[in-house]
Amino acid sequence: MARRIDWKNLGFAYKDTGAYVKAEYKNGAWGEVEVCSDPYLNLHVAATCLHYGQACFEGLKVFCGKEGSIAAFRPDENAQRLIDTAHRVVMKPPPKELFLEAVDKVVELNREFVPPYGTGASLYLRPLLIGSSPHVGVHPSEEYIFLVLAMPVGPYYKDGFYPVKAYVQEEFDRAAPHGVGNVKVAGNYAAGMKGDMSGKEKGFPICLYLDSATHSYIDEFGTSNFLAITDDGSRYVTPDSSSVLPSITNKSLQRIARDFGLSVERRPVPVTELERFSEVGACGTAAVITPIYSITHGDKNYTFGREDRAGEMLTRLYKEIQGIQYGEIEDRHGWMREIGACR
Ligand SMILES: *Cc1c(COP(=O)(O)O)cnc(C)c1O
Repeated sequence: MARRIDWKNLGFAYKDTGAYVKAEYKNGAWGEVEVCSDPYLNLHVAATCLHYGQACFEGLKVFCGKEGSIAAFRPDENAQRLIDTAHRVVMKPPPKELFLEAVDKVVELNREFVPPYGTGASLYLRPLLIGSSPHVGVHPSEEYIFLVLAMPVGPYYKDGFYPVKAYVQEEFDRAAPHGVGNVKVAGNYAAGMKGDMSGKEKGFPICLYLDSATHSYIDEFGTSNFLAITDDGSRYVTPDSSSVLPSITNKSLQRIARDFGLSVERRPVPVTELERFSEVGACGTAAVITPIYSITHGDKNYTFGREDRAGEMLTRLYKEIQGIQYGEIEDRHGWMREIGACR
């Protein structure tokens, strides 16, 4: 089945590979990591995940490297973030060791779906944690289901590493200060869908959200963090805000930027500062970096570099992180978790 996949033309879409893993939390303890194939869960109709949003998730990628080994990019960071998210919405998270065991197991089961080196594709993992106990009064679940799905994906944006136009969404907010914008709960995506869709209808593939209290500082794009390079090319700027999701891609790019000799500024970023940036990007696991050509804010329009080509520093950062992920550049920070050999 996997042999017939056109790896280079994979999009970012769900695919049933026939194997995923699951663990259940019952009577105060986590059970074993089990292998599953049925994509339908037997779930109680009154489960807290369905009614009250006790659901959170993660996303990470696994690569077949140049030297022939399979490795996951920073899964320990995803394990920790799932723990942080779960605690914020009063759920029981799987311990780090269980998370990593599930990652290793789902990759071993799906070895034939890890795209070969050189295709630009990867195996995407989707860990999910849901409250499964029935409650109709608002109450945290006593039981939880943790699963990790795996599927091969190509680059997120069909057009590749080319700049896109962004739109400042002020009609709808996605996250509130001290709310749940800084954790990866499923409901954040429902909250952002209307804003993202309304931007798309206006012809902008991606929306930028400002802090919802004052609409004067930059938060992040709908599903990816905001990063910018200053005019003189010496600084990497990214917002510090209580309603931004701490992106692992952003954290990694900040480390690489420092390696390159840039100074990294994590601080409130007024939207008016957009006129002082030479390059702007959106970053996240799925697309890694999406260069932004322009940002439309009301009747103002800011542009960055050229419409037909990504900026120099974003290109360097993108190549470096991808080089580490595909084992072409030394993993100097110990980010890759090896999980056996490519098939
Ligand atoms: C997941 C997510 C990101 C990207 O995080 P990565 O760890 O880099 O994949 C950015 N913003 C939001 C709102 C997210 O949910």
